[in-house]
Amino acid sequence: MSSSRSIVPDLRQYRVWFLTGSQGLYGEETLRQVAQQSQQVAEGLAGAADIPVTVEWKPVLTDPDAIRRAMLEANADDSVIGVITWMHTFSPAKMWIGGLDALQKPLLHLHTQANVALPWGEIDFDFMNLNQAAHGDREFGYIESRLGIPRTTVAGHVSDPTVTARVGSWARAAAGRAATRSLKLARFGDNMRYVAVTEGDKTEAEHVFGVQVNTWGVNELADAVHAVSDADADALVAEYLDLYEVVPELRPGGERAESLQYGAKIELGLRSFLEAGGFSAFTTSFEDLGALRQLPGLAVQRLMADGYGFGAEGDWKTAVLVRTAAVMGAGLPGGASLMEDYTYDMTPGKELILGAHMLEVSPSLSSQKASLEIHPLGIGGKEDPVRLVFTADPGPAIVVALSDVRERFRLVANVVENVELPAPMPNLPVGRAVWEPAPDFATSATCWLTAGAAHHTVMTNQVGVEVWRDFATMSKVELLVIDETTTVTGFEAELRGNAAYYRLAQGF
Ligand code: MN
Repeated sequence: MSSSRSIVPDLRQYRVWFLTGSQGLYGEETLRQVAQQSQQVAEGLAGAADIPVTVEWKPVLTDPDAIRRAMLEANADDSVIGVITWMHTFSPAKMWIGGLDALQKPLLHLHTQANVALPWGEIDFDFMNLNQAAHGDREFGYIESRLGIPRTTVAGHVSDPTVTARVGSWARAAAGRAATRSLKLARFGDNMRYVAVTEGDKTEAEHVFGVQVNTWGVNELADAVHAVSDADADALVAEYLDLYEVVPELRPGGERAESLQYGAKIELGLRSFLEAGGFSAFTTSFEDLGALRQLPGLAVQRLMADGYGFGAEGDWKTAVLVRTAAVMGAGLPGGASLMEDYTYDMTPGKELILGAHMLEVSPSLSSQKASLEIHPLGIGGKEDPVRLVFTADPGPAIVVALSDVRERFRLVANVVENVELPAPMPNLPVGRAVWEPAPDFATSATCWLTAGAAHHTVMTNQVGVEVWRDFATMSKVELLVIDETTTVTGFEAELRGNAAYYRLAQGF
């Protein structure tokens, strides 16, 4: 469903540096071999189909100044989204203190070696001196732990697909981190009145995630919408006719064609506003639509499918998650969308969650041709809005929520399985998803409520929990996962442990 207007980046434009540690004691010949073999390892990563970013080998580092300079250069280059380190030989780790202290980009410690099998019959001490990551990386792990450096550690040979897949997940998380660090978010109107969980500390969010969250009066958006010409809107309507099953009343000449033309104006006005401001995420509020005649539905759905983050009712935190998920899932089938846990089928043993929103669910969750329809909205007091109607594809997905729990942010993720609609829902014409939560309905819902996780989430069927774990690690944000292994008692114990840990980790 993504279009030529997509703002999902090509992840190849992002670079990850491959840094190899050694020391001067080994002499020229050994260091030459270290350089050659570390290039082969880096090439193994660079050529792996499941690592979506560009991996760049850097010259072997053998002294503290070079290490610190490499890290400062990584910090300074916006296209470098992370650093991979490997100690092929022994690299005394006090040499790394200054560099690790300076590094502000995500770190992956790759614990590997050049060879797979040992040449048992020929092995001598020269081989041992060259291939000693088994203890060189232990020395490095010590200093990482001693300095409290957040990182992902991956162990195994680069010819092993599970290793490159793991590095690929980390690279996607690093791309998500880079996206939040450069994210400008426009809020049209404020929070829905009296709602608690969609509030939050925007100043702290800029420090923790890097996101810039600011508000514009909705009539600035309305002005942009009303400046769109009929001709431009009609050209976009023609595109809709190609892409969707458009109901007859909305087609040109149909009795409600003008409503779809107005929906197209909302999309063009929104896009122009977002593009002019460099925004990659936004929120709306149905309580604050100013001169807009419809609640933006179709436009928001299509913008999400193009990689924009979105949150309804002023929910900027979920908008951040939707944008982050879209970047982390770049190039993979599926998409990321605002989602809301709405209502349940509580049939014992076959419980299901029906998720939807008033209008704003991204069609990227579905591979089917969506239906473009118009129906009344029983809230907000505006004209009937146009919207895409579809059901998310069956298959694995994840929902992730972000709460502000006073002194920190908390991510909560639930692994879910989207399923086919149990029966047609002709009277619920919205984008929707139906899922079974892991490990089961009661455990999932009990843990979710115990964690104070939000009713708004991002749903993604592109990336799983591994990517979110890495994103949380590199953002130094709490993440609670509800998956097949979760029990209520274990989850409560984790909450209690986290309550102490995250307070102490902030220092005194
Ligand atoms: Mn909502």
